[in-house]
Amino acid sequence: MSSLIKLSSAILAASLLSACGGDDSSSNNDSSSQSGQIKNVIMMIGDGMGPQQMGLLEEYVNRAPSNPYNGKASAISTFTQEGVMGLSMNGPDGSLVVDSACSASQLATGIASGSEMIGLDTNGDKVETILEKAKALGKATGLVSDTRMTHATPAAFAAHQAHRSLENEIAEEMLKDTGVDVMLSGGLRYWIPQGSHDDNAADNALVDLINEPSMKLKSKRKDDKNLLADAQGLGYDLAFNRSQLAAAEGDKLLGLFAYSGMNNGIVYSAEKDSAERIQPSLAEMTKKALDVLSKDEDGFFLMIEGGQIDWAAHSNDAGQMLHELLKFDESVQAVYDWVKDRQDTLVIITADHETGSFGFSYSRTNLPEAQALTGEMFADRNYQPNFNFGPLETLDKLHMQKQSFYDFYEEHMYDAEGTVTAAELMTEFNKISEFNITEAQAAELLVHVPNSSKAEADTKYADGHKYLGAAELPKITDFSEFYVYVEEDHAPQMARQVAAGQNTVWGTGTHTSTPVAVIAWGPESVIKNYGSMMHHVNVGEKTIKAMNNEL
Ligand code: MG
Ligand code: ZN
Repeated sequence: MSSLIKLSSAILAASLLSACGGDDSSSNNDSSSQSGQIKNVIMMIGDGMGPQQMGLLEEYVNRAPSNPYNGKASAISTFTQEGVMGLSMNGPDGSLVVDSACSASQLATGIASGSEMIGLDTNGDKVETILEKAKALGKATGLVSDTRMTHATPAAFAAHQAHRSLENEIAEEMLKDTGVDVMLSGGLRYWIPQGSHDDNAADNALVDLINEPSMKLKSKRKDDKNLLADAQGLGYDLAFNRSQLAAAEGDKLLGLFAYSGMNNGIVYSAEKDSAERIQPSLAEMTKKALDVLSKDEDGFFLMIEGGQIDWAAHSNDAGQMLHELLKFDESVQAVYDWVKDRQDTLVIITADHETGSFGFSYSRTNLPEAQALTGEMFADRNYQPNFNFGPLETLDKLHMQKQSFYDFYEEHMYDAEGTVTAAELMTEFNKISEFNITEAQAAELLVHVPNSSKAEADTKYADGHKYLGAAELPKITDFSEFYVYVEEDHAPQMARQVAAGQNTVWGTGTHTSTPVAVIAWGPESVIKNYGSMMHHVNVGEKTIKAMNNEL
């Protein structure tokens, strides 16, 4: 508790200092406010990283009994202590809850956008993004994400499309129209010609070019365009694994390290220290992007996304979410190491929205036993709170999870439903989680309810809908309205079984309207503008102004 109080007073002191900075043009006791000129802008987005998710990271870093950070602060909290922190509403124009495409569009343009739009205003017209403005100023530009390069968050900084699902078009636009200098992520499937397949003789050239045997070679394109060849023609170095990334030397770099999303945080954590690891980490991609972009003497704009915090939260998977937060924090640390002695760089760390309505909560299970306390007020009674307020060991147990719920479903249930027994499922699940389930709970995971226009109860059917058109639903028994991804909602079903053991609660399988933190670090005269209650449209607007040195 005392360290938390210290932390919040440090934050308070930091914001007071910056708020009391006075007339910044005349201030002469601080080199950053003397110049105050912004050359580089780095925006870091934890997708789905609401205050609750940041809280999970802080709890683990500061209070897990294993002391994982050896008393060191998280990189995110280091930035809050040296910078300014505000809160930001993030809703789309005309609605309450935002999706990642609209939210990133608003951050990237400083203009209101509509749901699921990429780089457009509410009428559907294209708006120049901060990345495009940086380019117009002669700056280098970069996008890094552990999802797919064409996924909503990076897309909204470098493309303009009516819908986030148009990833083939987004890939082409990012490369040929916007010409982002450094692009590092997953999602190779949108960059290679239709029909590409590892064992096609005709694709030997592609196999040779990619030169990474583990890469799944399958296209989602509907045309014969080979954007990899196009990128080479435009002067890009290409990289498809960690060593190719390390070897790349040019000023333009396209790295696509997975067929779809890159490895999740649990897989990464297991492979982290192995020399055999094929995919670069988010931190390694961040460092490479900084190396390449910082060669431009006009400066750069770089957006880095920790994109799978959101994916874990959609799965209601607290163990995976912790690993995603740690992966993101490593990348934040890489940025901190690069900027810490600079006065010409603005760093913004924020989220696009909160996902899952996550929290730890106190419960009726495993009620505490009576304990003697030495304090004077406990001379005549024992200490015995009425409820289970959540043991700190939970933090380490969450970290010990060995597979994401999503991957567990893929491995043990997807093809095996109807054949796998509850007993087998229980055994397998208890191997990956410290929070064991019973056979009866495993049986719950196998319950499906019909989903059709004719079904009487529990139906979510919508004819022809990408998700809601499925014939069956996993059964969410508590509060099912906001579980809209049907097949993927097997993971939240697992979360129900471990909730009591974890003291975790989840309110939704989608996003919430919770205001998110905005951490600004850089010259005091600039960052003092971020210490308030804002909306992401304002955050975008301020950051564009800051880059133009007009803030
Ligand atoms: Mg995203
Ligand atoms: Zn999401």
